[in-house]
Amino acid sequence: MLGKKSDPKDLKKALFLERKNAWDHIPESQQKHLETYMKDYRSFLDYAKTERESVDTAIEILEKAGYTDIRKTQNTNKIYYNHYGRALAVYRQGKSGVQKDLRILVAHLDSPRLDLKQYPLYEDEEMALLKTHYYGGIKKYQWVSRPLALHGVIAFPDGTVDTIVIGEDEDDPVFTIADLLPHLAGKAQMEKKANEFIPAEKLNILFGGKPFNDDKELKDRVKLNVMNLLNDAYGITEHDFVSADLEIVPAGRSREVGLDRAFIGAYGQDDRVCSYASLRAVIDANDPEISSLVLLLDKEEIGSEGAAGANTWIAELVLGYILARHGLDQSGVIRRLLANADCLSADVNAGVHPDWKEVHELLNAGYMNGGLILSKFTGVRGKGGSNEAPAEFVAKLRDLFDKHDIIWRIAELGKTDEGGGGTIAKFMSYYCMNVIDAGVSVLDMHSPFEITSKADIWMMYKAFCAFLES
Ligand code: MN
Ligand code: MN
Repeated sequence: MLGKKSDPKDLKKALFLERKNAWDHIPESQQKHLETYMKDYRSFLDYAKTERESVDTAIEILEKAGYTDIRKTQNTNKIYYNHYGRALAVYRQGKSGVQKDLRILVAHLDSPRLDLKQYPLYEDEEMALLKTHYYGGIKKYQWVSRPLALHGVIAFPDGTVDTIVIGEDEDDPVFTIADLLPHLAGKAQMEKKANEFIPAEKLNILFGGKPFNDDKELKDRVKLNVMNLLNDAYGITEHDFVSADLEIVPAGRSREVGLDRAFIGAYGQDDRVCSYASLRAVIDANDPEISSLVLLLDKEEIGSEGAAGANTWIAELVLGYILARHGLDQSGVIRRLLANADCLSADVNAGVHPDWKEVHELLNAGYMNGGLILSKFTGVRGKGGSNEAPAEFVAKLRDLFDKHDIIWRIAELGKTDEGGGGTIAKFMSYYCMNVIDAGVSVLDMHSPFEITSKADIWMMYKAFCAFLES
């Protein structure tokens, strides 16, 4: 107990929770390391705009750090498992061996975007256009009137797969969705609700405008010309779109935001900010006692369904590979190991927006520069569709993070009646393990230009390292 404190100021300091700014707790000696980390993180964001590109870029980083494909080695230390090129598992064996215990970081590599439809290309008013189908929770009006890039793969019946990136190099053309001019938008748009004035079927990409030749009798000359250009560059015909995963994402690179460069602005930080921190933590953790498993997964933005998402057996699959090398691939061993694991579901939370405070319950909100944000549960209204981390697990993490001078707080996603959201955490809880959401606050989440704080990212990275070393 505190004993008798006569000064109410001292008593208040001892008893009340204090709001902390993460910048105040980053020593001068760490500043240079912080800026190097941010530069590396930004280059990850610039090369990895889709889940497949994220897997490829992560593998490059891992191989440089001495990690090997599990299919190419008998070793079980520092290995990775590439799951269809769309999800990735990383395993680092701890000093206590493969069987003792497990620390898990799980994050997602997919972000909201526009996918091309399976038959996307058509001509209208002598312009070539591409039809899209949006993926994840977007505000459709944010995707018009901006430069867009095309990223993805085309798979051919002979088994080969080509990758495409158009719109990122300085000399590349970009694409766009043209909005309607304000002069004519009165009835067509301005009197409508925000979720109705850009209908999904008007999210069509401007893809070309030159006719193939001057034969005016020929129909669809502009479509023919762009199809011909695609054929020259990639050898494809219109049939090949059906076996392609082509994504439209914002063109251009990440930027520092603010005169003091406090923030990072970029597409796809939900959830590559946590994926990258998880990847770096497993590589950088200092000689961990307990083994680490990092899962970087696809399809979180549409509910974690699908063969590369969290609603699969992927954790068992990877551990099966590893334990089999030690003659221990019985499902009982794997399930006990998973049930006893501690897991951070690394995902972002909503930062308090100074102009839209009314959607947050400020006592239990995550704010920018608030450090690592833990969410005891996600879900909607009466905690529907969530798992909830038990008090004992939160206490263990409190102790760990405080001992490592990590600035952190707990936050809910908005007011109880306001909305809500889900993450991967509940899928990990199916394995009966302890799991809690941990990440950073984001402003303008799911937009083409999401904002994060460098101080928060730094605290998250330090927290993930401390967790894997614990
Ligand atoms: Mn997310
Ligand atoms: Mn999201």
